[in-house]
Amino acid sequence: MNQNIDASIAWHNRAQNVIPGGVSSPVRAFSGVGGNPRYFVRGKGSRIWDVDGNEYVDLVGSWGPMIVGHAHDHVVAKVTEAAALSASFGAPSPNEVLLAEEITKRVVIAERVRFVSSGTEAVMTAVRLARAATNRNVIVKFAGCYHGHSDALLVQAGSGVLTLGLPNSPGVTPGQAQDTVVLPYNDAAALEQLFAARGHEIAAVITEPTPANMGVVPPINNFNGKIREITAKHGALMILDEVMTGFRVSAGGWWGLVNPSEGWEPDILTYGKVIGGGYPVAAVAGRAKVMNLLAPLGSVYQAGTLSGNPVATAAGLATLELCDPALYDTLDLRAKQVGEVISAALTAEGVAHQTQFGGNLFSFFFTDKPVVTFADAQTQNTKAFNAFFHAMLENGVSLPPSAFEAWFVSGAHTDADIEKIESVAKLAAKSAAAVS
Ligand code: PLP
Repeated sequence: MNQNIDASIAWHNRAQNVIPGGVSSPVRAFSGVGGNPRYFVRGKGSRIWDVDGNEYVDLVGSWGPMIVGHAHDHVVAKVTEAAALSASFGAPSPNEVLLAEEITKRVVIAERVRFVSSGTEAVMTAVRLARAATNRNVIVKFAGCYHGHSDALLVQAGSGVLTLGLPNSPGVTPGQAQDTVVLPYNDAAALEQLFAARGHEIAAVITEPTPANMGVVPPINNFNGKIREITAKHGALMILDEVMTGFRVSAGGWWGLVNPSEGWEPDILTYGKVIGGGYPVAAVAGRAKVMNLLAPLGSVYQAGTLSGNPVATAAGLATLELCDPALYDTLDLRAKQVGEVISAALTAEGVAHQTQFGGNLFSFFFTDKPVVTFADAQTQNTKAFNAFFHAMLENGVSLPPSAFEAWFVSGAHTDADIEKIESVAKLAAKSAAAVS
């Protein structure tokens, strides 16, 4: 390897003395791909720089939030302005109202918005709301979908849980696990069967609108519409987890992208990532009727010292102000271009792969068959991905360090970035072919 990563290695050694595994979130440790993670110190637009001064085209985008690129001038200005006025009051402040108004304007069914600090919290609150609203306990999720690390949802999850090969986490009690039923994704017949047998126990079905935490797997045969139909028939709620897709795949998230044409409506939505623009903001949202069950109007408790934080919500609002139709056109174009150049490079070297899109979210499965379920996703050749990943990284393109994650473009990616990705992919595909 020509790239000097001595400083990253030194930081990782230091980190491991004080932080478990050296990281604040497991997938960052490179356990899935091997090697030493890079320690980053700066980002601007589509590029990021590590502690050794190496420059990368960024296709991780902090796992979604950096939709307008790093350190966008407008976002930096708004954050600086808010930070100078105080980091936090622990009391209501205007920025959270402005951000909630922006969300309700974009998604008409999100009549009320409650802010929290992470997607995990948003989903946890959504589940509590659904159980309270229905007076039932059971939550249904789909294998390979990730909804954060709350106990009820850490059963056959995607993302880092999948990367590390952990089927379920120790510390989740049998009681919690037994209230979560896991079904295969895209399998409406399995859902129908479960509801026929246990419909009266089921509080909610939670789904990613297009799963992107086992790699990207789009819904087939109107799967989201089927979930809605079956839950409605049995008096259960539908929770649409838009933490990843929200305001990324369109101005109205996935729901806004496919509706009103598909004609279904979830009961509860969750958001995160983009609505904080890289700062800790997430939200649970929905029609007033269900949202007003939350305290102080209702009896479902939920709270947070830093919820609706004025600096973080300023960042989210500034980011959404930049998320106009032109930005979504750019994201769609860049996603298509990256998909094409990577696929062409892999094809030229005879590396079996699938390029899968869910809106402008996309990923590559190193396998020769389309992936429609979690079981399909697991058939891929992770060794080939790992070789590809390292060759890209060593030559200045940063990809998600796992074969089971979506790739993210931003409005700041340029033609020069696409050319760089294309030329590096030609080398990396040779590395992948060598282990295929
Ligand atoms: N839901 C989905 C669909 C996600 O992709 C994620 C994180 O990747 C979460 C929930 C959890 O969000 P957070 O990492 O902010 O807790």
